[in-house]
Amino acid sequence: MLMSFIPACGQCRWCSSGQSYLCDNGAYTMRGPQLDGTFRVHDKKSNDVGQFCLLGTFSEYTVIPDISAIRLDPAYDMTKVCIVGARSRPVSAPL
Ligand SMILES: [Zn+2]
Repeated sequence: MLMSFIPACGQCRWCSSGQSYLCDNGAYTMRGPQLDGTFRVHDKKSNDVGQFCLLGTFSEYTVIPDISAIRLDPAYDMTKVCIVGARSRPVSAPL
């Protein structure tokens, strides 16, 4: 699985027209909470902690929206996928 810093809902006008990099949900990635307005990460004092671009990839564990997850075909060469994952969303990724 890859995590995309720009979620793609697959339903908005941008996603429907093949321009998922403009997904309406992308406007909410810098707010802190998840798309539903809740926080999934908390510090030791139970304070809410925002996840950068909804991902929080610098943590050991994370919870992300399903529209930020990209399922990969197991046939992909994972040594190359990790490079793609670090740079962009693969065009052929199923949504
Ligand atoms: Zn969308």
